[in-house]
Amino acid sequence: MAVDIDCVVLGAGVVGLAVAREMALAGREVLVIEATEAIGTGTSSRNSEVIHAGIYYPQNSLKAKLCVAGKHLLYDYCNERGIPHNRLGKLIVAATPEQSAQLEQIALRARQNGVDDLYQISGAQARELEPALVCDAALVSPSTGIVDSHALMLALQGDAENQGAQCVFHTRFNQGRVLESGEFLLQFEGDEPMELTANCVINATGLSAPAVAGKLQGLPQESIPQAYFCKGSYFTLSGRSPFSRLIYPMPDSAGLGVHLTLDLGGQAKFGPDTEWIDHEDYTLDARRGDTFYDAVRRYWPALPDGALSPGYTGIRPKIVGPASPAADFMISGPATHGIPGLVNLFGIESPGLTACLALAQATRAALI
Ligand SMILES: Cc1cc2nc3c(=O)[nH]c(=O)nc-3n(C[C@H](O)[C@H](O)[C@H](O)COP(=O)(O)OP(=O)(O)OC[C@H]3O[C@@H](n4cnc5c(N)ncnc54)[C@H](O)[C@@H]3O)c2cc1C
Repeated sequence: MAVDIDCVVLGAGVVGLAVAREMALAGREVLVIEATEAIGTGTSSRNSEVIHAGIYYPQNSLKAKLCVAGKHLLYDYCNERGIPHNRLGKLIVAATPEQSAQLEQIALRARQNGVDDLYQISGAQARELEPALVCDAALVSPSTGIVDSHALMLALQGDAENQGAQCVFHTRFNQGRVLESGEFLLQFEGDEPMELTANCVINATGLSAPAVAGKLQGLPQESIPQAYFCKGSYFTLSGRSPFSRLIYPMPDSAGLGVHLTLDLGGQAKFGPDTEWIDHEDYTLDARRGDTFYDAVRRYWPALPDGALSPGYTGIRPKIVGPASPAADFMISGPATHGIPGLVNLFGIESPGLTACLALAQATRAALI
């Protein structure tokens, strides 16, 4: 059977688009298949839009390496392509002397990951930077920033298409199998149901990645992790933000805590919290906002009553459940599952936006 396409990328989120760009720039013929009507309708448009520095992840993990490398690649790319972004910095705030004693551990972890620009300041110095803030001490992360994720995705799509890649929407991968020739036979449903063969398949379908991999006959099932969904809700602040930097409480076992992020228009939002769910459901329960007031007032006691409004939710594509420590990104290529030409991207939660360009490079490398 003739090969229709060299390389198929499933999913047009920020990671799928970055992979499509990477492959197209390397001279590959690329077709991006997206189930919905547009790019970035999934997790890529339901996140904090923070360019993470790479502080918290375990040393030598893919998250640590690809976040730090991806941050540098992303800032350069934003500058080259005029993508709106702001390296506004973040403060990790310790509420008590006990928490302040833990800041050095966080700075040490960051240094191990190659983030060597963190420095500690006193509560008084933190208040000089952010007068509304109350804390015992803080760590300053100058390289943390924010990015317009949609403008980023448009630039990635544009680069890929300029190199000949094509994006097809309203088309959902349905099932596939590995042929004896080593090519992939793929079936799609949607506006124009179709079947095609490809030399190479990248599964960048985010929350659906384990389910999509499960529909690829010939792939060892033991190479596919179980999918878990962890929803995060955001509440937006009415009125002007008194903060000009991102403010994060001390991280805990559940995650980074209810933090304050800003968008490029200066609108402040708080979140995301953590709620384990069993299916893709983006509804926001306004009652969850009640717990936000206490969490935020630990570092901003003057948060007025009634100042928070329901914002939006996003779902983290987890590959381990709540009882397990956070898993690393899983770039599952031929070295893992034994099938040449196939890479499944599993568990691409935060910092996947920051790391997208580095993830794309690592995905191409995993194919070889
Ligand atoms: C609450 C939250 C906050 C976050 N904050 C940050 C942050 O501040 N900074 C950061 O770096 N990262 C952050 N992240 C992580 C980041 O958003 C993700 O890592 C990234 O967006 C993942 O992109 P993706 O392309 O892998 O997935 P997605 O954006 O979900 O794209 C997958 C695409 O695949 C498509 N698809 C699914 N099934 C099929 C199918 N069968 N056929 C064809 N197409 C299909 C979907 O429609 C979707 O468009 C956050 C994540 C969450 C949930």
